[in-house]
Amino acid sequence: MQQSKKPPATTLDRLTLVRARIARAARDAGREPQDVTLVCVSKTFAAQDIAPVIGAGERVFGENRVQEALEKWPPLKADNPGLELHLIGPLQSNKAHDAVLLFDVIETVDREKIAKALASEIQKTSRHPKLYVQVNTGAEPQKAGVLPQEADAFIANCRKNFDLEISGLMCIPPLDDQASPHFAFLNQIAARNGILALSMGMSADFELAIELGATHVRIGSSIFGER
Ligand SMILES: *Cc1c(COP(=O)(O)O)cnc(C)c1O
Repeated sequence: MQQSKKPPATTLDRLTLVRARIARAARDAGREPQDVTLVCVSKTFAAQDIAPVIGAGERVFGENRVQEALEKWPPLKADNPGLELHLIGPLQSNKAHDAVLLFDVIETVDREKIAKALASEIQKTSRHPKLYVQVNTGAEPQKAGVLPQEADAFIANCRKNFDLEISGLMCIPPLDDQASPHFAFLNQIAARNGILALSMGMSADFELAIELGATHVRIGSSIFGER
C-alpha cells in the first residue's frame, strides 16, 4: 500500500471545515448561516477532547447516553456558562429526572410514558428543557421515534394532556435510503404542527439537510474523528 495519506487533521481543523461547509450549504439554499445551529456530537469522546471545541467557541453539544453525559458534562458546564446540551439518544423514564436536570434540549421524546415522566420532572425541578419529538420517518422496527402516521396525534397529546411545549422534531433516516425524502417529510410534519426547530443531518448528509430546512445539524465524526 502506498503511504499517500495526508497527516491527520486536528479536531480544530475539522471543525473549521465543518463550519465552512455549513455556511456554504446555507448560502446555497438561500438561508443565513446563523440560522443553522451546529450541534457537536461528542459521544464517546472525553472531556479533554471536547475542551478545545468549547475553546474554539462552540456552545451546543449532543450526547446520546444520559449516564455518559452525567459523567462528563457537569464540570464542563460549570466552567463554561452558556453551554447548551442536547440529548440525542433514547431516554428511559427512570432517567427522566437526570435528563431534565442536565440537558437543555431533549430531542428524543417519542412515547407517552416519556412525555408523562418529563412533565412530572419538569414540574418537580422547575427546569424547562426544550423538547423535540423524534420521528421514525422510515418506520424502522429497531429504531426509536414515533411512527410518522402517529406524529400529529402524539404532538397534540404532549401539548394538550401533558402541557409540554414541543418546539422541534428530530429524525435519523434509514442508513441505506436516500435521506432527502425523509428530511422533506420531517419538514412537512413540523410545518403543519407549528414547529420551528428541525434537527436533521449528520456527518454524511448535513448539507442536504440544510437544503431541506434543518435548523440543527448533529455532527460527530466529521469534527471529533472516527469513533
Ligand atoms: C452519533 C449521532 C450523530 C452524529 O453522527 P456522525 O455521523 O458521527 O456525525 C447524530 N445524531 C445521532 C442521533 C447520533 O447518535
